[in-house]
Amino acid sequence: MKYAIFGDIHANLEAFEAVLEHAEQQGCTEHVCTGDIVGYAANPGECLAKVRELGCPVVKGNHDEEAILTTSLDGLNPLAKQAMEWTREHLNPEEQDFLRNLKLVRQVRDFTIVHATLDTPGSWTYVTNKFDAMASFSYQFTQLCFYGHTHTPRIYIKGDSVEPIEETTVNLEMGRKYFINVGSAGQPRDGDWRASYAIYDVEEQTVSIQRIDYDIQKAQDKIIAAGLPEMLAHRLSLGK
Ligand code: ZN
Repeated sequence: MKYAIFGDIHANLEAFEAVLEHAEQQGCTEHVCTGDIVGYAANPGECLAKVRELGCPVVKGNHDEEAILTTSLDGLNPLAKQAMEWTREHLNPEEQDFLRNLKLVRQVRDFTIVHATLDTPGSWTYVTNKFDAMASFSYQFTQLCFYGHTHTPRIYIKGDSVEPIEETTVNLEMGRKYFINVGSAGQPRDGDWRASYAIYDVEEQTVSIQRIDYDIQKAQDKIIAAGLPEMLAHRLSLGK
């Protein structure tokens, strides 16, 4: 059995569809979403519908939460603020209810999923180094946990110490724990514009990060046509 684990879709339907198609070709039959389905790009409703169609486990991301609040967006940077105002206007009450009811942390089979961190999942802080990863490992009760939020794929391993690895594939070993950032499907920020997600092969006990080409031009055209900030289209090509 193979799981496709994706998140930070951020309303980029072209990237999300490419991920799902690639996952199917790789033999993935199960799907899991690490949150931030909406925000930034032009298809929040369509991406939500696709996730719901899959009927897969989902956790809430900070943009999913922000999209259902009515509070002021003054704390956000101007780009994020404009995108979030647009997103709020383009979600119907039923879609908002779905986002509202998402949990912050879930266990799926023998692994855990969370959007940001396991130590303070609702504070939306970032795991950017091994010390941040160590804090999450203290609250990780399964061998394997998948997360997102930084839009940068990364595999942290806890053996005698906690270290990230450079490789994009890992063989799971007994006695070790794994905290794995699946990267962003819809808005990668590691300098590589291609959609990112992870495959967990249960029989082989491997996890691998995948990078997928998609119709980026189409996604960019939609962002501009929707009246969203042009910079949001431009940054997709930069992968940041
Ligand atoms: Zn995000």
